[in-house]
Amino acid sequence: MLHIQESVLEINFKALQQNFEFIKSKTKTGTKVLAVVKAFGYGSDAVEVAKFLQDELQVDYFAVAYIREGAYLRAAGITTPILVLHPQIVNLKHAIAYNLEPSLYNDRIFSAFAKEAAIQGKKEYPVHLKFNTGLNRLGFFHTDTDYILQKLKTLSQIKVTSIFSHMVASEAANEKEFTQNQIATFKEICTSFEKALNYKPILHMTNTSGVFNYPEAHFDMIRTGIGLYGFGNDPKFDKKLQPVASLKSVISQIHRIEKGESVGYNRAFVAKKNTTTATIPIGHADGISRQFGNGVGSVVINGKLAPIIGNVCMDMIMVNVTKIKCNEGDEVIIFGEGQSAEELAAKINTISYELLTAVSQRIKRVFL
Ligand code: PLP
Repeated sequence: MLHIQESVLEINFKALQQNFEFIKSKTKTGTKVLAVVKAFGYGSDAVEVAKFLQDELQVDYFAVAYIREGAYLRAAGITTPILVLHPQIVNLKHAIAYNLEPSLYNDRIFSAFAKEAAIQGKKEYPVHLKFNTGLNRLGFFHTDTDYILQKLKTLSQIKVTSIFSHMVASEAANEKEFTQNQIATFKEICTSFEKALNYKPILHMTNTSGVFNYPEAHFDMIRTGIGLYGFGNDPKFDKKLQPVASLKSVISQIHRIEKGESVGYNRAFVAKKNTTTATIPIGHADGISRQFGNGVGSVVINGKLAPIIGNVCMDMIMVNVTKIKCNEGDEVIIFGEGQSAEELAAKINTISYELLTAVSQRIKRVFL
């Protein structure tokens, strides 16, 4: 029995390695791997995950959403190239200071970055051109190609290191035609650039599900996030992957309450019969959504599911253990063995991504 005093998020590096190797095995030799470590490494601790991927697995690239996330990795000694997916104009000088490579997704950010790179006297500073092929979130349009190529001719301070796009529905079997159209549009864009440039930029398009479902779209590099952390958005691939993060806690106190007594704020739970409850030190401030209250979510205690009763508190949940043999001090698994983050997420109609990234910084990360 693992003795833990408070809630912890266990991070299993063996699982991370296995996932990395499985994903890589799906690509042709020589295909680069970009690991997405935004949002605190999908909750797992971006610095530790990035160090492992860099030092032990020689990953080719990292991506984060914001410049601040990239700066944090650099300050921790990460030297691998870092693509910043969603930089903001006010921070561009910091991107350069931390040797971060921006995604340029519209004219505004393109011009601002070109200006900043010139001010700082840069030559061929690496940038990445993001094209929108259907997600309608960020990116230049196909029709912007000629105009960007014209602009690039006059700019020696930046160099287009990569051209990329993002899949809309790579996990959805019923969106194959849409995705194939996205791939075709991306190929056309890339062909124009390859003809006009005197070198070959890195081309990349797939996220984890894209890696699995669209090998024809691996191009020069794949981008993987959720797969590294152990989820494949498909039972077939989930079987091959191993969740990296397990959220664990402990029973602080056991109460035996009589029929008619209530549990928690606003008396949301009133016992219909004599009930045994366990109080656990984790709450909505730690990423346990209030939507899990009142029987919607459960935790695993000694291999059995114990439903959450009443409202989720800021720092605590109470669960029904009437039918479970357990003691104060026993381990509680919120997600991990016995209940995956994906299964728990489904209870509130969300996805593993949201649950993993919601685990607050108050929860200590423990690395196995
Ligand atoms: N590429 C981009 C641009 C993303 O925004 C993300 C994640 O949201 C990824 C790749 C990784 O996606 P996944 O976690 O599904 O592999």
